[in-house]
Amino acid sequence: MKKHLSILASDEYEGRETGKEGQKKAAEYIADNFKKIRLKSATDETYLQKFPLTQTTPESAEAEVGEKKYENHKDFYVFPYGNDLKLEAKSILFLGYGIADEKYDDYKNIDVKDKILLVLGGEPMNDDSISFITGTKDFSDWTSDFRKKSRFAKSKGASALVIINMNFEANIQFLKSFLESPSLKLETDTSEKNDERKDERKKIPQLGISIKTANDIFSDEKMNVDDIKKKIQKKKTSISFEIKSSFTLHIKNKEDKISSENVLGMIEGNEFKDEVVFVTAHYDHLGVHDGKIFNGADDNGSGTAAVMEMAEAFSLAKEAGFTPKRTMVFMTVAGEEKGLLGSSYYTDHPIFPIKKTVCNLNIDMIGRIDDEHKDSINYLYIIGSDKISTDLHKINENANSTYTKLKLDYKFNDPNDPNRFYYRSDHYNFAEKGVPIIFYFNGTHEDYHKETDDIDKINFDILTKRAQLVFYTAWEIANRKDRIECDVPQEKEKK
Ligand SMILES: [Zn+2]
Repeated sequence: MKKHLSILASDEYEGRETGKEGQKKAAEYIADNFKKIRLKSATDETYLQKFPLTQTTPESAEAEVGEKKYENHKDFYVFPYGNDLKLEAKSILFLGYGIADEKYDDYKNIDVKDKILLVLGGEPMNDDSISFITGTKDFSDWTSDFRKKSRFAKSKGASALVIINMNFEANIQFLKSFLESPSLKLETDTSEKNDERKDERKKIPQLGISIKTANDIFSDEKMNVDDIKKKIQKKKTSISFEIKSSFTLHIKNKEDKISSENVLGMIEGNEFKDEVVFVTAHYDHLGVHDGKIFNGADDNGSGTAAVMEMAEAFSLAKEAGFTPKRTMVFMTVAGEEKGLLGSSYYTDHPIFPIKKTVCNLNIDMIGRIDDEHKDSINYLYIIGSDKISTDLHKINENANSTYTKLKLDYKFNDPNDPNRFYYRSDHYNFAEKGVPIIFYFNGTHEDYHKETDDIDKINFDILTKRAQLVFYTAWEIANRKDRIECDVPQEKEKK
């Protein structure tokens, strides 16, 4: 695994961003390895399943208030918005901090439908920096969750949200790479499921403006940001008023057709050949931003290396006379970081019938230790194992108590866990089709989604042990007499 990881997580692979050269190089490296270890291709001689993508890159944004034009990235910014847009309004509604909380409510008795809302960033605090909302010096999620205000504004029918960013000048630099980065979607996004998701993803435009821009907009009303903040602080209630200046926003994007690829290798079963056991890991990561390479050693070089080694173990076993009874498919997917795209494409265009897909063991980050386990590193989070098949859950537990003896942590398996990890990696696309899954995960850590997620921080001993647990579980599922059963009643999908 160290050998594979030192290649995949090296600077040469440029952070393996979906659709970019580094990702394609990684696909080639994995495919070459599948060939070398004598896996059979599940597609053509390339071992690849190609999928088409639409790449949307923000091109320009123009904003006008009254007669005055404002400049993108200098006076304001817009978070990436998937579609071209031309928005016009006769006025702007200033709405305090844009917060609706029982302790402080800007929305009370105010109709914001189809309005352009202008709000202060952050939340109201008293003289001692105590938040009106939390009652402590800590911010509430109205401040820490940068999309919360716009999600709420959208739910009330507002058509755009403009937030006054109190640190505009300091923020615009690091925001820039995010603001300019392209988004990807599957070109063949036709299923109902994806329509629903698209709908969910549809956001209202969210802008940030500087205090200077805000004061400019307030000048006709003889107001300024400082005065407003002080007034709210003193009154302890919201202030809102209408600004009778017209507002236009014009967002333009550039669209390109690109493609990416999943890599699939297999070992055919010798007894129940048409039943397939899937072991997966995404091999894409975040790419290069501001000249910094995000190598993604843990996320998810660790899972990719584990899948490659496991494939080799099954292949060596076959050569030693231990061909699995069921067919083993090893698939590394792309597009995960862009919204589980590769696995979504696969499960909508399956190469093996979904009905014959016995399970999906998905690995996403297994080479590190999270803060909670600093003193007991012999652990692994198990997510989803009991959601569809009790057999699967038991087999995994047995494999662990017999061989690997890790502490299996089910904390994130709780459906009420706010992290919602169950929905956040590739197995979810299989689960949605009724395929039993397990998601193997070490939790997040200080280098998660940072350019510091490097190979020198990987713990190879624990990575090995965790990969072995997946191996033993896969081995049992592939070789037992009976196919595992889907016996857990499924709730009808709720929106
Ligand atoms: Zn990941």
